[in-house]
Amino acid sequence: TPSERIRNFCIIAHIDHGKSTLADRLLQETGTVSSRDLKEQFLDNMDLERERGITIKLQTARMNYTADDGEHYSLNLIDTPGHVDFTYEVSRSLMACEGALLVVDASQGVEAQTLANVYLAIEQDLEIIPVLNKIDLPGAEPERVRREIEEVIGLDCSNAIMASAKAGIGIPEILESVVHNIPAPKDNSDKPLRALIYDSYYDSYRGVVTYFRIFDGQLHEGEKIKLMATGKNLDADEIGVLAPKQVSTGLLESGEVGYLISGVKSVEDAKVGDTITIAKNGAEEPIPGFEEAKPMVFAGIFPIDAGDYPALKDALGKLKLNDAALSYEVENSAAMGFGFRCGFLGLLHMDVVQERLEREYGIDLITTAPSVVYRVKPVKGELMMLDNPADLPEATKREYIEEPYVKLEMITPEEFVGPLMELAQERRGNFLDMRYLVLGRTTLVYEMPLAELVTDFFDHLKSRSKGYASMEYSMIGYRQDDLVKLDVGVNGETIDALACIVHREKAYGLGAELCKKLKEIIPRMQFKVPIQASIGGKVIASQHLSALRKDVLAKCYGGDISRKKKLLKKQAEGKKRMKSVGKVDVPQEAFKAMLSVK
Ligand code: GDP
Ligand code: MG
Repeated sequence: TPSERIRNFCIIAHIDHGKSTLADRLLQETGTVSSRDLKEQFLDNMDLERERGITIKLQTARMNYTADDGEHYSLNLIDTPGHVDFTYEVSRSLMACEGALLVVDASQGVEAQTLANVYLAIEQDLEIIPVLNKIDLPGAEPERVRREIEEVIGLDCSNAIMASAKAGIGIPEILESVVHNIPAPKDNSDKPLRALIYDSYYDSYRGVVTYFRIFDGQLHEGEKIKLMATGKNLDADEIGVLAPKQVSTGLLESGEVGYLISGVKSVEDAKVGDTITIAKNGAEEPIPGFEEAKPMVFAGIFPIDAGDYPALKDALGKLKLNDAALSYEVENSAAMGFGFRCGFLGLLHMDVVQERLEREYGIDLITTAPSVVYRVKPVKGELMMLDNPADLPEATKREYIEEPYVKLEMITPEEFVGPLMELAQERRGNFLDMRYLVLGRTTLVYEMPLAELVTDFFDHLKSRSKGYASMEYSMIGYRQDDLVKLDVGVNGETIDALACIVHREKAYGLGAELCKKLKEIIPRMQFKVPIQASIGGKVIASQHLSALRKDVLAKCYGGDISRKKKLLKKQAEGKKRMKSVGKVDVPQEAFKAMLSVK
């Protein structure tokens, strides 16, 4: 396709505003996917994504479209992940586009993710087409939301499209607007090849499949190519377009989007953001902006059954082939035995990995509470990065400890400003700014330790605002503070995997609450079990589990059989998620208890 007939665009939206539904509609309208083949939400093709209603992995679809002007266009829809954990991937996929559809739910309005994504798009100089979606809803207020987008984002909305992805309203208008308002890619076909990798995944039959956008030059099948960030030389074994199934074309040119198969065995060797060029006499400068994915949140993952350790190792290796952002290292815990210390981009990423390990690989796991990465200066030695609270040197052996901070922006209806300010203060937030966004809605800006956010902050934000508030955050650097390690002992044994790093001022309250919580969670034994929280060997709180007298079934004798069965089943399920530590069974919940006492 000549570049003047190509349009590369993406859809940006706050979660649930209708991105996936609209993408499906566009595929359907252009006959790219027949209604019969259109599984609900074609672009969210992982089970997990569909269940959670979020897009995790990017997908691309090329659509052939004959516009009202009678010309044939090739429209590349590049889907972007819609979650803060994946901001870097979002920015790379935006870079592959010239324009974006900004979808805003006309019954809701501008939300935190709308803003974060639209600012990324503006940074990349994309042409933005506002789409007011869900106008079929009785509560839709497209005029209010149109003004809101103009006021808040400063975007001209005079040509905003009124749409309903669900009812199929406004779809032809959107396609025409893409053709007429989004610029064609620049024709740089005479320059040496430069193509941006914006996504890649591992396929067990074909190896790594890389999605890329050509900025300069052209790429022929069979050519020798080079990845500029990793310096790897490869063969372009197969190239083609995503229609949306892979169709080999033998040649791709400046402005086009496609896939590449090149014998790469792990996505780590073909990283998102890297530049593809020709091996000989290629481009001199890569496309700017390449970054390594950096894990922000760490947790220990241990098999419940020690015999599953080799299977867990194997499964992590396989997941890693498809996930350059996942990191893992062997961890040998005194209490838990052998497992892995894993690094994730954020909490969602962590949940996804954990769920895949259990579902796809059938391994029962205990995951410890997530921890951020601290910077610690020991009295002797260099500054160190510490991702496992259990490894924190004693107070006398360190000069200082620093923790990562984020800038947090919350958008909320006015009436929840009070409760949200309270929440931020409880989480050691420093108030920075409060702005009236539009009538009745406010932006609150705080700086806050990332550690306070990676617990259940988001859940609290939602519940204290009845679901109406939204949030976004970005890293702003490290700060020193008076942080201490809180150790937890059960039955006289310190459980290293339960250790956490907390602020000294909060340590006493947290220790007491944690002991209380653990007392509820850990099942009683035939003997009395003390539970203690301590700092530097000094006990600051304690509880004890009294000895068990009756067994679970005793109270059911004579009772009906189905109730008995239910109890047994419940017990068995409970067992599945327990780890024996010394003589005590510690359930999965205990490792997350810290999160719920904050
Ligand atoms: P995403 O998170 O932005 O991808 O949003 P989805 O496409 O998954 O849509 C979220 C929810 O809104 C789903 O239940 C959709 O069926 C619904 N939805 C999407 N578009 C419309 C629309 O135009 N009208 C109505 N009433 N519901 C819609
Ligand atoms: Mg979606």
